[in-house]
Amino acid sequence: MSEALMGVYNRAPLEVDRGEGVWLHARDGRSYLDCVSGIATNALGHCHPKLVAALQNQAEKLWHVSNIFRIPGQEELAEKLTGASFADVVFFANSGTEAIEAAIKTARKYHAAKGSPERIDVIGFAGSFHGRTYAAVNASGNPAYLDGFGPRLPGYVQLGLDDDAALAVALAAPTTAAVLVEPVQGEGGARALSPEWLCRLKAMARAAGVLVIHDEVQCGMGRTGRLFAHQWAPGSEPDIMAIAKAMGGGFPMGACLATREAAAGMTVGAHGTTFGGNPLAMAVGNAAFDLLADPALLAHAQAMGERLTSGLTKLAAAYGDIAVDVRGKGLLIGVKLHTNNREMMATARDHGLLVAGGGDNCIRLLPPLIITAREVDTALDRLATAFAATRRALAQAA
Ligand SMILES: *Cc1c(COP(=O)(O)O)cnc(C)c1O
Repeated sequence: MSEALMGVYNRAPLEVDRGEGVWLHARDGRSYLDCVSGIATNALGHCHPKLVAALQNQAEKLWHVSNIFRIPGQEELAEKLTGASFADVVFFANSGTEAIEAAIKTARKYHAAKGSPERIDVIGFAGSFHGRTYAAVNASGNPAYLDGFGPRLPGYVQLGLDDDAALAVALAAPTTAAVLVEPVQGEGGARALSPEWLCRLKAMARAAGVLVIHDEVQCGMGRTGRLFAHQWAPGSEPDIMAIAKAMGGGFPMGACLATREAAAGMTVGAHGTTFGGNPLAMAVGNAAFDLLADPALLAHAQAMGERLTSGLTKLAAAYGDIAVDVRGKGLLIGVKLHTNNREMMATARDHGLLVAGGGDNCIRLLPPLIITAREVDTALDRLATAFAATRRALAQAA
């Protein structure tokens, strides 16, 4: 590993050379079934021909212009996103954490524009992850991401997910601006919030004049079998939503979506970005949207999610010494382990399967949504082999 890189990542010793669909081919000639997908990002698999064509075509025409000019690809993708969601308007960014930053600023500015600038507090939840900007690490409140970076910012409140009484108190506070939640927690360990909880949150927030922000950076864009995860919970629609990861199929981009009302404070000069929504990104984003929003693909993702979840549930039952339970939604699946999740990631890799880690000692399976039934079964076979190897190692150690 080069000493020239800042050492912020715990990288697996794997050098990927080429990707094709759900497969990654390493330099040493080995092939891996990819159930990481760049953390729920390569939702259409690697090198999808339509995304490759969109990128190549645009690369020969125009890469970048400033947002001081009209960008037709932005207008097109914004129409598609608002046409498929609760939202009326879209701001394009380059990443998930920037989409969250825009969402939090939109919420605070809404209250300021309405004459309540004291409403700044953002309520976040234990186990959440919103990215790595100052606003995002303060919103998620995870000490591991806050330590050593100076004092915590004012204006952030952390609650447990099951503390309704504290939630009611926080929502009623006169300084509260917004509540920020992932409908399915990703990094926290694939925890799907119930439709009832999401609808109750929306109703309570609305009654208190507090905006609801959904972080669908990981669970959105088809991952759960609906274009947006909250669409499983009609009535829970947020006022503001951040998306990113899968929306570019691997090309960096993010977006903050909002109702016209919630975005009322975001007037000329209130926010901006150099790269966000540039023509190269929008060419890929439009092509990716058309594929991800296809009802047939969403139904396929749901079916593959059910197949993988049911196989994993059987596997967990057969390996009660290794697995605790299976959780998540669609193709955002976690398996909570008794044994160390990092070691299981390495063992699975040794058996040709890539899985991600997650909070609560989970391994996470986030395959491309285009994974076939046969490939799901291959993933299950390989994980079963990894579980068996772990059991043998445990027996030897005992
Ligand atoms: C990955 C992620 C982010 C941050 O996105 P980046 O593109 O890494 O900045 C924010 N929220 C959730 C739920 C995520 O999974």
